[in-house]
Amino acid sequence: TSPSATRAASAAAGQSVPLLRCFVDGAWVETGRRFDNVNPVDGRVVSRVCEADRQTVDAAIQAARRASRGIWARQGAVERAAALRRIADGIEGRFDDFVAAEVGDTGRPVHQARSLDVARGIANFRSFADLIATAGSEMFEGTAADGAKVLNYVTRKPLGVVGVISPWNLPLLLLTWKVAPALAMGNCVVAKPSEETPSSATLLAEVIEAAGLPPGVFNLVHGFGPDSAGQFLSTSPHIDAITFTGESRTGSTIMKAAAEGVKEVSFELGGKNAAVVFADADFDAAVAGVLRSSFTNSGQVCLCSERVYVERPIFERFVAALAAGCEKLRLDYPDAPGVDMGPLVSHTHRDKVLSYYALAREEGATVVCGGGVPSFGDERDQGAYVQPTIFTGLPDSARCMREEIFGPVCHVSPFDSEEEAVARVNDSAYGLAGCVWTTNLSRAHRVAAQFETGIVWVNTWFTRDLRTPFGGAKLSGLGREGGRYSLDFYSEISNICIKI
Ligand code: NAD
Repeated sequence: TSPSATRAASAAAGQSVPLLRCFVDGAWVETGRRFDNVNPVDGRVVSRVCEADRQTVDAAIQAARRASRGIWARQGAVERAAALRRIADGIEGRFDDFVAAEVGDTGRPVHQARSLDVARGIANFRSFADLIATAGSEMFEGTAADGAKVLNYVTRKPLGVVGVISPWNLPLLLLTWKVAPALAMGNCVVAKPSEETPSSATLLAEVIEAAGLPPGVFNLVHGFGPDSAGQFLSTSPHIDAITFTGESRTGSTIMKAAAEGVKEVSFELGGKNAAVVFADADFDAAVAGVLRSSFTNSGQVCLCSERVYVERPIFERFVAALAAGCEKLRLDYPDAPGVDMGPLVSHTHRDKVLSYYALAREEGATVVCGGGVPSFGDERDQGAYVQPTIFTGLPDSARCMREEIFGPVCHVSPFDSEEEAVARVNDSAYGLAGCVWTTNLSRAHRVAAQFETGIVWVNTWFTRDLRTPFGGAKLSGLGREGGRYSLDFYSEISNICIKI
């Protein structure tokens, strides 16, 4: 049977949808307000979700505070590492459930959920388990004024209660990227996943419960941002730190709330990332690389390239090859063989992306391919699909060149010199990631060093080593996470100085 036939059969069977609850102090909590979780492939409701009210969020924070004074924070790194490994094993043991959760909420291809989202969710717990099990500390030897020997050594204590607020674009990957190091350093967590993607977070709470962590160490509250769980959590005076991934504007709102209590913040925010392709690049690799960096996850990765600069001698050929690749991308059901792209996450988000497609035309863009909504002639027409799209012809001052669209879209511009390319890449309010495609080794180093971004990839994209610093410059974020940078953020660092 085809995927659509299977779906039609299950819809006809009238199966009732599951209720997703909050997880507070080791117990599953139902709240009075519910919202629908809608599948963007065909618009069907996949679950009902309990929205946390202020009392539920406060109860979660109080539970985390109590737990932060208990065994979890006091035990050694080896015991915590073992607990993190049990969580990783628990996700692995329910791998297919997690894949189904990600696919049901977002419509992404099953192969992507398997190889990227769920695989990285597991890796996040394992890599921070490895890190804390082997990490040491710093020691500085010195001499006091009277000539006595002095030792300084650095200790890390948990911060206490960490609020984790995450977005919908890579739900499990981005949530666990923060929950794993927060727990690793002995903190207790109140997590608020995106209202668009509550399912994998709920499964994670089930796995953490089964892994036997003490009640209150991990709490999950569902809901929206303003006047809902996100705001109740981020404005609470009773949390010690907030780590947030999402839009720059939301980051700014959360930062204002955090300023009141001078709380630690770590922000991974929006981007308007550029890829620069030099004429000396491996042409086929660059085309394939830019196709990936523009259209992976329907362009809904903060690291995606929305601005592509191509050196003029290869510009026409590059645009033609990129368009040929783009037209071959297969939009389909998540479980269809050969699927490349699913829908956008929601109709609301599709409206936003389509408004930029319209704006690009108004601003004078040439539509090289795509630019609209595909028509399937089946229930997918109720979904949130958009065509992958390539524009040319816009000036760098156009709004479509300056604002994050967050869809399967890129604009390709020609450039004439290395200096010009670097200046145009850096002419952005954002500074998350950039790509350079060249076979000239000196140029690769020279150009990469000049990008005003937290991350630069040369001849690749989204190749991640979890020990490396991850984060953005300018509007793209504050602080870095990854490896020991995460250990630094998620702990209170003390220096102890001893005169011997
Ligand atoms: P968003 O800012 O709308 O929402 C993110 C989370 O914040 C959600 O859980 C939401 O409910 C919550 N929220 C919204 N308003 C809030 C408020 N006033 N107070 C507290 N919480 C609030 O972002 P999104 O649309 O879910 O995600 C897409 C954005 O995330 C894009 O801009 C993308 O570039 C960015 N992003 C950045 C990174 C990175 O690592 N830099 C990674 C992924 C996504």
